This record gives sequence, C-alpha cells and structure tokens, in this order.
Amino acid sequence: MREARELLDVPAQGREWNRRRLIIEIMVKSDRQSQLSRRTGLSGGQVSQTIQDLTQEGVVEVDAPGGGRAKGKVRLSRMRGVAVGVDLGFNHTSVVARPVGEPHDRIVVKRDDFGANAGIRRLLPNVLRLVREAVEDTNQGMSDVVSAGLGVPRMVDPRTGRFATPVLPPWEPEDDPAGELTAELGVPVVMDNDANLGALAEQTYTSEEAVEHVVYVKASTGVGIGIVVGSNLVRGQRGMAGEIGHLTIEPNGRMCLCGGRGCLDTVIGAEALLDQVKQSRRGTNRDVPATLTELVLKAHNEDAVCKRVLQDAGRALGFALAQLCNLINPHRIVIGGELAEARSLLLEPCGQELARFALSGSVAPGADFELRTSTLSPHTEAQGALILGLRSRSSK
Ligand SMILES: [Zn+2]
Repeated sequence: MREARELLDVPAQGREWNRRRLIIEIMVKSDRQSQLSRRTGLSGGQVSQTIQDLTQEGVVEVDAPGGGRAKGKVRLSRMRGVAVGVDLGFNHTSVVARPVGEPHDRIVVKRDDFGANAGIRRLLPNVLRLVREAVEDTNQGMSDVVSAGLGVPRMVDPRTGRFATPVLPPWEPEDDPAGELTAELGVPVVMDNDANLGALAEQTYTSEEAVEHVVYVKASTGVGIGIVVGSNLVRGQRGMAGEIGHLTIEPNGRMCLCGGRGCLDTVIGAEALLDQVKQSRRGTNRDVPATLTELVLKAHNEDAVCKRVLQDAGRALGFALAQLCNLINPHRIVIGGELAEARSLLLEPCGQELARFALSGSVAPGADFELRTSTLSPHTEAQGALILGLRSRSSK
C-alpha cells in the first residue's frame, strides 16, 4: 500500500509545493474542487490540472455521482499514514487519531482526566500513552504517524511556536511540550492556543460551504476565543489576539491572574462561578459543586442557584461578545468548553445581551448570523490540533 509519508517528505518547490498543499487539504477533508481551491488559495485551473495528475497516479479518487467531475468530492486513495491531534486542558487530555484517507469524522478518540495541572513531567508520558492507544486503534503503527498538532489553554507566540510571555501557571517559561513530543513522535509537533484550534475545526468541519468569519469561544477554567477570517487564523503579533478572558468588564472588580482587575475570567471563569454557588450556601458545604461540570449538571437538575449563576454568566459573556461583534462582525459564534454544556441556560441570555449591545444589523434575525454551541464537542480543539498538524506539513 502507498505511504502518505512519501508524498509529504518530498522536497517541495514551485509546482511540487502546490501539489503537496493540495494533497494535505484533501487529507484534512475530502471536498469539491471549488472548495479545495478556496482552502489552498490555488486557482481553479491549477487545482483541476493537479487533481487530474493525482487521479492518474492513483493518489486521489473523485466521486462523481451525476454532477460531473468538477462537482464531485475529491478524496485520498487508501494509503498508510495517520494524523494526530492532542488537546491538553488543565484537567483533561484529549487525543484524536485518523488515517489520512478516512473521512474527517471517522476519528479514534482517547480522553482522560489528567491535564496540565499534573505538571509537565507527569503529563507527557500520559499523552504518549493516549497517542499510542489511539494510533493502534486505527490499525496502524506509531511509525505511520505523519503529523501531529497540540492545543494548550495558553497564549502561544506564532514566531517561536512556544508559550508567549507572560507564561501563566501551571506552565513555566522553559516548558516545551511540543518540542518534547516532537522528539518522541519523530514528526514535527506544532502547538497553538486551544481556542484558535476550536475555530479552525468549526470552520473546516461543520459546514459544506466555507463560512468566512468564525469565532470560537472556549469557556471552561478560563475563557478565550479563536478568530478565523477567511483562511487566516488571527493570532496577533505575539499570539495574544482573542484573549477575551482578560477584557475588563468590571473596572472595580476582582483581581485576575494576569494582573488586571475585573477581567471576564474573574466573572465567568470556572472558579468565579463555583465561588458564587459556595457563597450562596452560607458556609454549609452541602451541595457545593466541586467542578464546572458538576455545577452545570446541578443546574440541569433544577438547582435554582446553579441555574441563576449560569444565566448570569451567559449575560456577561453576551455583553463581552457584543463588543467583539461590533469589531469584527462574524458570521458565526460557536461556544465550546464545559460551560457550553449549560446549553440554553447560557445561550438564551447570551443571545439577549448580544441583541441588546451589538449593532442590530450584525446579529438580528436575517443578518446571516448564528450563535450556537459546538457540535464537535468535546473534541473540537483536538480536531483543530489535527488540522494544524497536517497543515504544518505544507510549510516549505
Ligand atoms: Zn485577566
């Protein structure tokens, strides 16, 4: 059987590089030629000619059920090769693995409650174990891994691929999880902020037609957003774009980890929400949830305090997102992370505040705007990491 590694390891210049980019986008997701053209930035003519060559070589196949070849989906022929995505949370690790020729939703998933809070020394052996188990479940081996991406709930400097300063706990500035995984896996592992990766996955995997402006909100221990505009992820000069968790919404509010006061994180971060429930119990520890997931579960079981805490969190989030809507006017805002499990308890007040504070033309019915929770959850970020890993193989 052909090996994906041979297609990706060739020295790439000029036309060869275009060819490799196209193969990688087909590995990311089988698609029609017009969409592949949009995703690669290559002209329709270049895509059409290259697909014709690749079909003759047996690298790709075109499904043409009645609509003609141009309208058929281009997919990779069967070959050895596995793409991996890893999402490292504070209290969880998610790994997805997929043979590069399989449809994008046919992933093997491994997840456990061991995250960055455990410390990098204990964390990496666990990540490697999950990757190994996931790859084995695809019926391929570790030597077949062709790409890997890594998501972290921290700012990542796009110039270095390492944590951006200030490096907030539990990480230390010298920590280099991507570098350590690169050494272990034998393929270059690239790292990015988890909300950025959620935005990539939402834009690529949740609709047939490309959505141009997508905002993904990762709301759990802290809150961050990923912004995709066209085919670009907006990272900012030093990876600090989208740090909505540190947007001041209460100038005289509580101190934040970042040194700011009244940041959104101090209002709707997991600790802030749990504190509110604890305070309402007036010193008794009865029915105090220990985690955000427990809090959400209690709210769904009609606990009045937990419901109100989540509804107020939705309002605060909606207020912050309204400011964002007036800045970048997105098509779609998708909410992921544990807080999204609150569903309508969070979404309804969030939508009401958006309608109240954003320009009405940007979010009103008929404005081609959508606010919803992630349909890829809880693997949205890991799916984005898999996309990032594959795309990194197209760099010259
Ligand atoms: Zn802050």
